[in-house]
Amino acid sequence: MEHPTVHVCEDCRNAIVNDDYTGLDYYHDREEADERERQIRAGLKRLGWMTPTDNTIEFSLNQCECCKIDGDGKRYEMVLFRMELSSALA
Ligand SMILES: [Zn+2]
Repeated sequence: MEHPTVHVCEDCRNAIVNDDYTGLDYYHDREEADERERQIRAGLKRLGWMTPTDNTIEFSLNQCECCKIDGDGKRYEMVLFRMELSSALA
């Protein structure tokens, strides 16, 4: 069975791979960091369990498919493992 993939930003990758949100404090103030964490957690909940592949995009202008943040930067490919994707990706 083919699993679909999404591309996520570095903040989401750290949350997915390391369950780490501390990096958010590095470049946001407290309030922004909390808001970012909410966005990321909402994305993780929507997409379900996923795991990284070896593929990264060094520079992308596309929205992160997890937290939906706009802006350029690195993107990491993740494989999704859930069935009802039509609702997850809507
Ligand atoms: Zn993200």
